[in-house]
Amino acid sequence: MIPALMPTYNRADLAFERGDGAWLYTAEGRRFLDCAAGIASCSVGHGNPHLVEAISTQAARVMHVSNLFRVPQAERLAERLVAASFADSVFFCNSGAEANEGMVKAIRRAQAKNGHPERTDLLCFNGAFHGRTLAMLSATGNAAYLDGFGERAPGFEHVSFNNMNAVRAAITPQTAGILLEPIQGESGIKAADIRFLQELRSMCDEFGLYLGLDEVQTGIGRTGKLFAHEWAGIEPDICSSAKGLGGGFPIGAILAKEEVAKHLTPGTHGTTFGGNPLACAAGNAVLDIILAPGFLETVVERGHYLAEGIDALTIAFPDIFSERRGLGLLIGIKCIPPVGDLVTATREAGLLTVAAGDNVLRLVPPLTLTEQDCADILFLLRNAAETLRVEAQLAAPAGALS
Ligand SMILES: *Cc1c(COP(=O)(O)O)cnc(C)c1O
Repeated sequence: MIPALMPTYNRADLAFERGDGAWLYTAEGRRFLDCAAGIASCSVGHGNPHLVEAISTQAARVMHVSNLFRVPQAERLAERLVAASFADSVFFCNSGAEANEGMVKAIRRAQAKNGHPERTDLLCFNGAFHGRTLAMLSATGNAAYLDGFGERAPGFEHVSFNNMNAVRAAITPQTAGILLEPIQGESGIKAADIRFLQELRSMCDEFGLYLGLDEVQTGIGRTGKLFAHEWAGIEPDICSSAKGLGGGFPIGAILAKEEVAKHLTPGTHGTTFGGNPLACAAGNAVLDIILAPGFLETVVERGHYLAEGIDALTIAFPDIFSERRGLGLLIGIKCIPPVGDLVTATREAGLLTVAAGDNVLRLVPPLTLTEQDCADILFLLRNAAETLRVEAQLAAPAGALS
């Protein structure tokens, strides 16, 4: 019989009772170092006292009033995001897919109101992931995710990532903008070349297109900058945020330049829950931590420490790990055995990780992890690699040379 909880996930048979920093504990007292972090969402760790205090205080006052009224917590969060980024204005919603939907609506509407209603198409990339709503499935373009869900939503074309010639060849009079992740997450932690991002920016300027970045996973300090595009020295016209923004509390956002944002006038876009006092209290508490002086520098340091250790493991275990990818604390390790075996072996060693495409093991720990946590991650990764190596040797035919 079907479980009451719809079985849309193959879940690991683990349930956590509480968390503390980068660690999660089961009711039986087993502990795990959490490099899944609710899929790159628990940006400030579990049980973070500042976040817990902000949420509980706000919950006791008022959680939700709707957007028919002013929400001071949302005004403050928007002002802070604007002050810290390229954006002039922010819209809050509840998830990454919803933020991306809003971003596409904003791009289409800005083109239409600027006299180009024919410009409705978004140029997307092979390997993209933009979420699971009907339109974002089409923007994602992954055939497996689309199977059985009817016709694709129109207006999303795909070309190969990091290939400027392919982009230029795909521009048509119907193109409204470009949509991409600065580092493709789900498909294997594949970074856009800095030069590619810069060329996309100039091409958008040249042809009057909008550059829309999906920073749902890469944003809010994950790579060591507030937004990953800052590493390329460019500004998008609009970008989406979610995952890390609420530190585990659901919230999404669209950040946009005035040129685009000004066309989302009253009545054109909306949400019941988006930007409510509780979600924005969480967002403000997260920003208190992430925008504190020196915090992002520490993220970069932790990223370097892990990168060096992982590179050493790649040399020590060429039969297990083949390549390190990513930036800051968005880390991918391409594996030789099936990545599912690595996810299991690391979990058995006490380390939670996430599989990504291209046989890549993804590590996205809380940004607040300590240097000791980093050392523990490397230790547990080594344990998992050793276990897999021994298993492979045991499975090898007798007398075979290793
Ligand atoms: C997770 C993710 C999404 C979808 O976010 P949801 O909150 O699950 O809707 C979209 N884009 C990227 C890059 C993501 O990593």
